Amino acid sequence: MKAVRVSTPGGLEALQVVEVPDPVPGPGEQTLEIRAAGVNHLDLWVRRGLPVAKYPIILGSDAAGIVRETGRRAVLSPATSCGTCEFCASGDKPLCVKYTIYGEHVNGTQAQFICVPAENLIPFPDTLSFEEAAAAPLVYLTAWRMLITRGRLAPSEDVLIWSAGAGVGVAALQLAKLAGARVIATASTDEKCAKLRDLGADFVLNHAREDVVRRIRELTSKRGVDVVIDYIGKDTWGRSVQIVRRGGRIVTCGATSGHDPAEDLRQIFFRQIEVIGCTMGNNKELTDALRPIFEGRIRPVIDSVLPLSEVAAAHSRIEQRAAFGKIILKP
Ligand SMILES: [Zn+2]
Repeated sequence: MKAVRVSTPGGLEALQVVEVPDPVPGPGEQTLEIRAAGVNHLDLWVRRGLPVAKYPIILGSDAAGIVRETGRRAVLSPATSCGTCEFCASGDKPLCVKYTIYGEHVNGTQAQFICVPAENLIPFPDTLSFEEAAAAPLVYLTAWRMLITRGRLAPSEDVLIWSAGAGVGVAALQLAKLAGARVIATASTDEKCAKLRDLGADFVLNHAREDVVRRIRELTSKRGVDVVIDYIGKDTWGRSVQIVRRGGRIVTCGATSGHDPAEDLRQIFFRQIEVIGCTMGNNKELTDALRPIFEGRIRPVIDSVLPLSEVAAAHSRIEQRAAFGKIILKP
């Protein structure tokens, strides 16, 4: 089968589209014939080199396709866990020490086939295209756990989402609106700002030319926002601390601009800020996040659909922050 593989981490040249042997299902596994695979920022980290990844590795955590054994349309749940430890027993598998993400710890979805445990294959309705289904799991799962479970967002609250045009940002905006919160979203261009407004953001700030800290003070009468969603890291962290209200929450699930921001701990303890780490999510969170998509209450936003052979163009588009929503690869 054809697959996007990284043998040696590096730049765009590390992305190889190669022929590899078809995977063979193990006990309890089924084969997904992949019709669409999502690209995530995680793919860029794996391509550049992650200590937890075993190379060579096939990239990709999201896929939708047809289950060979049943003929049904299914979308992939992007991770597995041991199933027996204290965290798995309590239903919180992202805390499992054996938590395994497709395309990060084991071979992923940017290929023609993948063999996975049957419980990882979730049927989806005909009203959703393969591309839309493949755009959903990782980012909506991540956004749900950040906003709802870990961030405890309430309908009366204000949430700020930095660079909300990214895959997880769009998902967070849609879910935060569904949860009834007031959403302030930022983007780097007027074009992206207009798209965020169309998606329902209550206030949109162009962070390339507006003073976000000052604007948030104005919008919230100096109070600050209840929740900040920050996966940018170094470039935004200091401002996230300034714009969150006293006793508010900053939720982080990434650090696309750098992972080691300067920190003034006095701001954290005097202003009683909660800093909350978050990654992926459990089965219940995935079911909850997918339900409004399956019911048509929100639609995944797709930036572009490319053939598998153009995976380098997809990475380049994400690296340049040119994408709005998800990029989908067709194997
Ligand atoms: Zn476990």
